[in-house]
Amino acid sequence: MSRFFSDKLSKLREYTPGEQPKDKSYIKLNTNESPFEPSKSVAEAVQKASKNLNLYCDPEASSLTQAVAEFYGVGSENVLMTNGSDEILEFAFLAFGGSGKKFIFPDLTYGFYPVFANLSGVNYEEIPLKEDFSITIEDYLDKNANVVIANPNAPTGLVITKSDIEKILIANKNSVVIIDEAYIDFGGESCIDLVKKYDNLLVTRTFSKSYSLAGARLGFGVACKEIIDDLRKIKYSTNPYNVNSMTQVAGYFAIKDSDYYLKNCKTIVDNREYLKQELEKRNFYVTDSKSNFLFVANPKIGGKDYYLKLKELGVLVRHFDKQRIKDFVRITVGTSQQVDALLACTDKILGELL
Ligand SMILES: *Cc1c(COP(=O)(O)O)cnc(C)c1O
Repeated sequence: MSRFFSDKLSKLREYTPGEQPKDKSYIKLNTNESPFEPSKSVAEAVQKASKNLNLYCDPEASSLTQAVAEFYGVGSENVLMTNGSDEILEFAFLAFGGSGKKFIFPDLTYGFYPVFANLSGVNYEEIPLKEDFSITIEDYLDKNANVVIANPNAPTGLVITKSDIEKILIANKNSVVIIDEAYIDFGGESCIDLVKKYDNLLVTRTFSKSYSLAGARLGFGVACKEIIDDLRKIKYSTNPYNVNSMTQVAGYFAIKDSDYYLKNCKTIVDNREYLKQELEKRNFYVTDSKSNFLFVANPKIGGKDYYLKLKELGVLVRHFDKQRIKDFVRITVGTSQQVDALLACTDKILGELL
């Protein structure tokens, strides 16, 4: 740290992205990316758009916004496109943390929430999940705090129902309730249509997981016009050109090709259920994930050990240095070949323990 760094930020602990080691080629199951390439029309459109990189992109991302709004059955005024969904989350922490308003979220969830809270200088409270990692809905009622819940949750993959979300919305009329639907295309029920009914709901989405565009950085928020206008104000105060022109066309054609992507999601869901079964046969505890990853623990081997041994064998998974989940690893569900390779390595590792 230089002596110039703001003391307001001196305690900031940054988010740690999943590793991307370059020493050899790994089977990469550690960051919940899609194993499938973007569709052809996306690649072609990006190439075409690259010819106009001398010009600024459309700050409103109008065509993309309209296509997204249409696809999800809301108005363009209800959608704001951002540089990954991380950015819309950051905007929300900046926008809605005023006058001492706290943010609350589970103790085990997306690691970026506390980082954004610290960065934007707002108070937050982490509410412990139950022993089995499920959420106690009552913990989120009448708290006079903004609520952030990932549904499905990460890294557990567990979902809550739409009626539970409605309970939270009704009990927190004077707070913003953010539902992070990064993984909703793999299971669970989206609550996007509830933005028509509740003016305190913000749903965030990403193209990084189900739409094979993690590297393009594209996400968006859906909410009532007033919330979207607040977030737009933050956007125009930080980075009006937050979604570059290649990413705008990539997103546009991805939405138009949604059949291709949703079919890929179905493949991932099938592979997930297969992998879950196979791991359970090998004595793993596996949460009931509705996402594109599994959260697993084996009584014979610690999470860190299993992660390190898999890495030695060329398979990357994610282990979190958090006491409560130290026995677990999070495994992204890939193609059947990747799943089989993981299982083969797992058998080798478990075999050598005997
Ligand atoms: C991956 C992820 C995001 C954000 O991803 P972006 O690539 O920034 O769109 C948001 N929330 C959760 C829970 C995630 O796992």
